[in-house]
Amino acid sequence: MLRTIFCLALLSASFHTAAQSANEWKIIHAGTLLADAREEARSEQSIIVRNNQIIEIRDGYVQPGQVSGTANARVIDLRDDFVMAGLIDSHTHLLGQQEPNRREIAVTRTSEFSTLMGYEFGMRTLRAGFTTVRNVGADRNAIFALRDAINQGLIIGPRIRASGQGITPTGGHGDGGGFRDDIFPHPHSGVCDGVTECRKAVRTQIKYGADHIKYVATGGVLSMTATGTEQQFTDETQVALIQAAHAMGRKVAAHAHGKTGMIAALRAGVDSIEHGSYLDEEVADLFVQTGAYLVPTLIAGHTVERIASERPNFYTPEVAQKALEVGPIMRNALRIAHEKGVKIAFGTDAGVNDHGTNPYEAVLMHQAGMPERDILISATVNAADLIGISEITGTIESGKDADIVAYDGNPLEDINTLLYPSFVMARGNEIDLDVPRPDIFPWPDI
Ligand SMILES: [Zn+2]
Repeated sequence: MLRTIFCLALLSASFHTAAQSANEWKIIHAGTLLADAREEARSEQSIIVRNNQIIEIRDGYVQPGQVSGTANARVIDLRDDFVMAGLIDSHTHLLGQQEPNRREIAVTRTSEFSTLMGYEFGMRTLRAGFTTVRNVGADRNAIFALRDAINQGLIIGPRIRASGQGITPTGGHGDGGGFRDDIFPHPHSGVCDGVTECRKAVRTQIKYGADHIKYVATGGVLSMTATGTEQQFTDETQVALIQAAHAMGRKVAAHAHGKTGMIAALRAGVDSIEHGSYLDEEVADLFVQTGAYLVPTLIAGHTVERIASERPNFYTPEVAQKALEVGPIMRNALRIAHEKGVKIAFGTDAGVNDHGTNPYEAVLMHQAGMPERDILISATVNAADLIGISEITGTIESGKDADIVAYDGNPLEDINTLLYPSFVMARGNEIDLDVPRPDIFPWPDI
């Protein structure tokens, strides 16, 4: 009996750190508050938080007790800071990041180890100001376990929406590549060819817990084969797999570099195109027509280009060639997309770039011609809309989760301000920022 009580006490102590006890109130004094990135910022505001939720926003600096229930509230002083909704990265691979021995890792790393890496990389992402990520393509069991543990409050981390395995054709971007049959005998559950198999591959991800579907509409830069960056699945297969996902209420993200693949995906009704490297005016018009989002991932292009040109043996020759070709054109694609009015959701491809360097994407977007405000919209309101979580995050509003970040300067005036948040709260949990964070600027030390 004693033993049972002791164990229960331990359990509740560990839960307490993640999912606060009932009715813990906090009052955040915000010097400048950008509650909704589409609207004007307001000065001297109070955000009243109970547990993981925003209860109310009031003008002026409210003191404990002035609002019912808040007598014991803790005041968080951000009177010198710029406060806004937690950022959202619409394209991450949380379970790993680039290491030179990729081939060895592909056949030795366990799901269990990947889950633990994902926890650490999630924390780095959170400390960079990102309270939500959409993970697109990963070891299914590992990413779902991490997501569920965070959602249940067992551990702290960014809110994760996950696709499970990416859907890819045999030999396509996402199907390993270059290994002997006896080392990689069975393709993962996302590998499929033709309409019937691909519908099944989509439904299999959903069966095990996918929040959305990711598929590869074209070749990819980091697949270890010289298979280009053009369309890989046929038009017919893309229509089938997108319909299968939509029929079960899941949105679909398509990895696409080449123009043919983007056009096929957009015509098939895809919800977002990831990368979009060879986007031109014709493709941009099609985006506007279908209402799909572009997730630009400029930092991924920038990173692989730098690695390929500065570290000759890091990539195989096939990969290096694609990296040098695709890297430089991505910013131009974003420039065209933005000018044409394509909807843009912030996303990095983190895992290609190191986790925690996610904010540098904003600097590159700014260099590609996007004004600061549009970048903030892309990383909050738009990304929440794309992921389908506008009801719970993306703005600071009563009833939404307390996903709140703050900065020392004003990112509407200087986008570099985003590189290092001064305060991060994820679903009511204050994140300790007093730990070493990666060097983001000057970028990057490769
Ligand atoms: Zn990716």
